[in-house]
Amino acid sequence: MDNLDAYIDVKPEDAQEKIEQLRAEIERHTYLYYAQDEPEISDGAYDSLMRQLRQLEAEYPEYQDPNSPTMRVGGYVGEQFSPVTHQVKMYSLDNAMDLDELDEWMDKLVEEFGSLPPLMCELKIDGSSIALTYKDGNLIRAATRGDGTTGEDVTANMRTVRDVPLKLRVDHPGEIELRGEVYMPNSSFEALNKDAEKKFANPRNAAAGSLRQKDPSITQNRDLSTFIYAVADQQSFKSQEDLLNWLREAGFHVNPDVLLCDNKEQVKDFCKRAIDKRDRLPYEIDGVVVKVNNFAQQEEMGFTSRAPKWAIAFKFPPEEKATLLKDITVQVGRTGVLTPVAELEPVSLAGSIVSRATLHNLDEVRRKDVRIGDTVIVHKAGDIIPEVVGPVLSARPADAKVWNMPATCPSCGSAVVKDEDGVAIRCISIECPKQLNERIKHWVSRKALDIDGMGSEMVAMLIDTGRVRDVADLYTLTEDEIASLSRGRQNVEGEDIRVGHVIAKKIVAAIEESKTRSFARVLHGLGIRGVGENVAELLVDVYPTYELLSNASVEDLSSIEGVGPVLAENIVEFFTNPQNKDVIVRLRQSGLNFDDSAVVQDKDTSLEGNTFVLTGALSRPRPEYAQLLKDKGAKVAGSVSMKTTYVVAGEAAGSKLTKAQQLGLKILNEQQLLDLLNNLN
Ligand code: AMP
Repeated sequence: MDNLDAYIDVKPEDAQEKIEQLRAEIERHTYLYYAQDEPEISDGAYDSLMRQLRQLEAEYPEYQDPNSPTMRVGGYVGEQFSPVTHQVKMYSLDNAMDLDELDEWMDKLVEEFGSLPPLMCELKIDGSSIALTYKDGNLIRAATRGDGTTGEDVTANMRTVRDVPLKLRVDHPGEIELRGEVYMPNSSFEALNKDAEKKFANPRNAAAGSLRQKDPSITQNRDLSTFIYAVADQQSFKSQEDLLNWLREAGFHVNPDVLLCDNKEQVKDFCKRAIDKRDRLPYEIDGVVVKVNNFAQQEEMGFTSRAPKWAIAFKFPPEEKATLLKDITVQVGRTGVLTPVAELEPVSLAGSIVSRATLHNLDEVRRKDVRIGDTVIVHKAGDIIPEVVGPVLSARPADAKVWNMPATCPSCGSAVVKDEDGVAIRCISIECPKQLNERIKHWVSRKALDIDGMGSEMVAMLIDTGRVRDVADLYTLTEDEIASLSRGRQNVEGEDIRVGHVIAKKIVAAIEESKTRSFARVLHGLGIRGVGENVAELLVDVYPTYELLSNASVEDLSSIEGVGPVLAENIVEFFTNPQNKDVIVRLRQSGLNFDDSAVVQDKDTSLEGNTFVLTGALSRPRPEYAQLLKDKGAKVAGSVSMKTTYVVAGEAAGSKLTKAQQLGLKILNEQQLLDLLNNLN
């Protein structure tokens, strides 16, 4: 019965006045609490006022107002946020990457104005830009920056942000658009990430993500805040200082940490102090924005297409922290590359907790000379990706351990090999679970085994359920199994996946049909590094069966034109790997084609040794002719050289024809080409 204290009895004729009184009162306390950080009443008293207002609004629905504090959570946004065209473009800012660049910018101002104009320094809040439009004092629209010209309507969500006044606290007839940053305080970010299944990388992403929720009540729970610092149309203000004062009066949350400077040293000091206090602030900042204070002077300077010329963002140097390198582990990427990863004692860095950082490859580990047990310096490259800069040598313990790349893949235990670049270490096992997704997607792709109906979701299901561990497993799937796989599963959009018997039947048929593909395509499908469609054909031309190919030596293979020694080695290594051999045995048992000798024997090689160049307009598409020529063993090149045997010149042939004439090459017209193709059969 705790609602009793709030119950309020008013006469109908007084209801409207009372409702408005309560709204004003609540908004004042909301402002004091959220924008000023100076609450006057307890949370309990605030809640009680809210309950009274809700009760009266329920009793007297005729006095509803979308800007009532009870309406801070509006309706569901629906499928999409509607676009909002900004009347005045929302610009980005140019950057000064260090104090010298900032100095240069200020020098330019001195050149322009004869002396340094007064400059307003503000903290650069690391959130998402927001534009708030008020009409006759009432919030009517909130929009994101989007691409600067068109943003998204996020009014319902921004209404839930408590430091955004729903009504201005000063009189302002007509429309006015104010701009600023919506951000997530660090404490809210940490609390959110503690619970959330899907973690946000930093408060900026969390703010942007929370702003774009379809359900405003989610936004409300995310505890966003704003700092407002700009107006779209500056006409009625004299300066940034003037504007900030007005914004404060009008009820906006304005960052108190601003300084109007009249010399360069003051500006630079502000920047240095901002770097120092960055870690102590309850929200993230990524720099300092320095603005020419006077709006008339701003107007004189104008904008580039991207940013105002009268402002600059001094960007902080990447934050660095020292922490313990606890271990170096190895991650196997989707293409089989083994990457060493630094396992760090968690450390808070530029807005997020860093506990892992890539070390790229063994050479990098050696070059940086990092050892397990070292204290290392970590920073964020571009303020996003954590990176290990190097060890603190003076802190190196005696037992710091030199690390080495494992000789086998941590995911499947297969031996690993060095890449042709001499740097990357790769697992080439066809059964390696980490690479499975890519391998299967490649196997079923159009140019390989061309298995229709095997989309990413299907492949993911087959792998997740453990039903498919390598490409050979595909050939043991039944219709019933495929149809039952999707039960209870959802796609990334959260919709139920439905694979019925009709689809399952088609997939089984497509799998069956893939057994008729050529050995060259099977070879391409196996995903041997460097063996694409063309190389597979080159190989099969010389070694038309699996027996022949798998017994060829590195020397044999590298003697094929178009196959270099590194590729030859990749191929031999692939066929020597026991896991790969096992998969091939099973594929053969399932009836896949490992023998193209019949095709190769019958192959028409009548144009072998000839290189053609096609130019000008022909009556059929050029690729079609190119294929006909290639089918007879000819090569088709893109440019004319001494190696060209024939140039086929269609209508309006240009420079290629001229060059062919200069070189005295044989030139054919389309009819002559057709004759050549037909007569040679
Ligand atoms: P950037 O996105 O790095 O080009 O930086 C430009 C953005 O900084 C603007 O679009 C604003 O959203 C944001 N910003 C944060 N704090 C301020 C501030 N005090 N003044 C102007 N812009 C700011």
